[in-house]
Amino acid sequence: MKRAESEGGEGGNAEKGENEGLLVRRIRSGTVIDHIAAGEALNVVKILGITGTTTEALSIATNVPSGQMGKKDIVKLNNRELSKQEVDRIALISPHATINIIRNFKVCEKKGVEIPDVVEGLVRCPNPGCITNTNEPIASRFSVTGKGLRCAYCDWIIGHDITSYIL
Ligand SMILES: [Zn+2]
Repeated sequence: MKRAESEGGEGGNAEKGENEGLLVRRIRSGTVIDHIAAGEALNVVKILGITGTTTEALSIATNVPSGQMGKKDIVKLNNRELSKQEVDRIALISPHATINIIRNFKVCEKKGVEIPDVVEGLVRCPNPGCITNTNEPIASRFSVTGKGLRCAYCDWIIGHDITSYIL
């Protein structure tokens, strides 16, 4: 039982682990989403489709001290690994998040998230007149620019608060 350093940490600092260990239990298998921007953990949970009525076992820590980020949030999901699309969604609201796949208490895989160049079918266009908001069977499509997400159909830009438009 001495492998507490292996999951969800900052990558080897001696000081890390204590706070996280107290706040968030280790999991046997599943996913630890680390380095979530402070305050975004609940949004991450939301975009993963986890609501109060699901049976998923998860734990959430918010505003955990982090050497890299000052403060961060952590979400641990028992017995669940994320799809590429789910990881892309997380990237949109928390581009510095890291995904740790845990199997048998060990980190089997650790990767960052990557904001895709194009986001399809993930975000709703805020423009009510946009063709993607009509009854046409057209999936939303945004290109990722320095200013935010730009709708491929009407050029509307979502510059902030992307979370509220995630489908
Ligand atoms: Zn649009």
